[in-house]
Amino acid sequence: AKDAGKGERRFFDPHMQETISQRLLLEEDIIRGLEAREFGVYFQAQFNSDSQLIGVESLVRWHHPKRGLLSPAAFIDVAEAAGIMSQIDSVVLLRSCEQMAKWTRLPAFSEITVSVNISPAQLYQHGFVEEVLNVVSDTGADPKRLKLELTESMLVTDMQQAIARMRQLKQAGIRFSIDDFGTGYSSLQYLQQLPLDQLKIDQSFVRGLPEDTSSLAIIRAVIAMATSLGLEVIAEGVETEVQRDILLANGCGLYQGYWYAKPLPAEQVEQLDIIDNAT
Ligand code: C2E
Ligand code: CA
Ligand code: CA
Ligand code: CA
Repeated sequence: AKDAGKGERRFFDPHMQETISQRLLLEEDIIRGLEAREFGVYFQAQFNSDSQLIGVESLVRWHHPKRGLLSPAAFIDVAEAAGIMSQIDSVVLLRSCEQMAKWTRLPAFSEITVSVNISPAQLYQHGFVEEVLNVVSDTGADPKRLKLELTESMLVTDMQQAIARMRQLKQAGIRFSIDDFGTGYSSLQYLQQLPLDQLKIDQSFVRGLPEDTSSLAIIRAVIAMATSLGLEVIAEGVETEVQRDILLANGCGLYQGYWYAKPLPAEQVEQLDIIDNAT
């Protein structure tokens, strides 16, 4: 490792100590923020190849009273290390299902899927399956339109446990997507074993378009693999029309990214120009 041998000196590094106390302060602030209900959800719209709205991804945001709107990068690492990420995840799951139930009355939104990010701690937490099923039934959300996003690395932690939990949720109609696909530990064997519905091409590959030929090669391979396994494929981080056109030409089915829409509060997603709100 790059820092090998520096460990002891770092322990007494005043800068490092400051960082530790900052992390502790942030941890306390997150707990306070959870109690004060400062965590909410933004939604990023997803589209098919005809640019019709087909879903949204829920993305957590912290409405901090002093620091303003905070993205997950500002708190996820500390929340995970402190073992409180699953509390944030619970808020996101609840808000997402509540919103899905509300949208059932809005024509352009009545059939859309809602994708929720699941953290490693949450998947393996005792009672996870029950929590998801309870939230779905309490909110009146349609389980068939709930999609859970998992990453490759969290699945290999305890593959048998992960598969068992996914199967239980699958029986209720809930669907699964592999997030950031291509960046983790991929084996074709696990793809076959898991009850999956969707692969999500990581934005790092989309970012390489149009210049980077190896990104394009990987994207093509993922689309071919998804298609032959009967899985949906969605590209994230689509920022330009050129990127969209290349993905389309290579058979990508679904799209998400700033070129279509940024993550927005629910009321603003409803107002997006790209969405046909005519009844
Ligand atoms: P992710 O699941 O890969 O989510 C996509 C991220 O890319 C989001 O950042 C989104 O705002 C951003 N993004 C979307 N379109 C574009 C684009 O066209 N260009 C670029 N450059 N970026 C784009 P965000 O919201 O900051 O979330 C970052 C990560 O935090 C997520 O990555 C996910 O891993 C995690 N996360 C977000 N919300 C939750 C949550 O509720 N629970 C858990 N466990 N993790 C979450
Ligand atoms: Ca995601
Ligand atoms: Ca992703
Ligand atoms: Ca990502």
